[in-house]
Amino acid sequence: MRIKFLGVRGSTPALSPQTPLFGTHTASICCTSNDLHLLFDAGSGIGKAPLPEGVNEIHLFFSHLHLDHVTGLPFYKASWNPKITFNLWAPKVEGSSSLKETFETLFAPPFFPIPFEKWSGNFKFHEVHNGEKIPLSSEVSLLAHTLNHPGGAMGYQLTTPEGRFAYISDTEHGNPEGDANILKLMYDADLVAMDAMYDRDSYAGHKGWGHATWEAALQFGKTAGVKTLGLIHHEPHFSDKDLLMRDEKIKDLAASALLIREGMLYDLATKNFVQP
Ligand SMILES: [Zn+2]
Ligand SMILES: [Zn+2]
Repeated sequence: MRIKFLGVRGSTPALSPQTPLFGTHTASICCTSNDLHLLFDAGSGIGKAPLPEGVNEIHLFFSHLHLDHVTGLPFYKASWNPKITFNLWAPKVEGSSSLKETFETLFAPPFFPIPFEKWSGNFKFHEVHNGEKIPLSSEVSLLAHTLNHPGGAMGYQLTTPEGRFAYISDTEHGNPEGDANILKLMYDADLVAMDAMYDRDSYAGHKGWGHATWEAALQFGKTAGVKTLGLIHHEPHFSDKDLLMRDEKIKDLAASALLIREGMLYDLATKNFVQP
């Protein structure tokens, strides 16, 4: 299984012009193996997701439906290909009767020119619940747990014969149930991608916004014994210089932790980042 980071920005695409290293796009990750094509979130990065010949089924798991995690959906080729079964999985949205209805509300004039009902993709909708384990093949499964975020969010743990990957975005530390779920998702993980938008100082003015500090993420990673901790959901106004400074500080404290850059590719079989 190979894990590609297509977008690692939080809230909105990068606002700083100097970002060739960490990139501009918001949340999207693509996980591919011989028989599976999986995606996490459809931020602006999903537009770059591969869609190899012969893929006839895709699973896209949404952490939640805030704009930075959904805006890219119309720009992914599979949304317009009726030959591909495109499974959309997301936690229940309060006040909405179904996931389909939520997308029909979001992708419709005046917010988007082509109503969702007119997209030619072959969508299937699935609600994800706290504690649910979803089998994806005879050998691969996905565990879901709720996170502490305004309106709710879901974290995911992907278990394969090669190893384990956890995607934990967006989430704020300090809520007992949320903290316990973060540790459950991190359990025995080779690679974790976790929201670490703030540091201790900047968090002081953003309590309740639903994002973690890198200091808290490091503590979770240490407690859970995570092998490689990748930090994501970077501040949109941070330049490469700002993020490199943070990256160095983090690596000094924990050799196994790093700030993820857009375009990074991780190979679960060899437990290494490889050349894209
Ligand atoms: Zn977000
Ligand atoms: Zn959010």
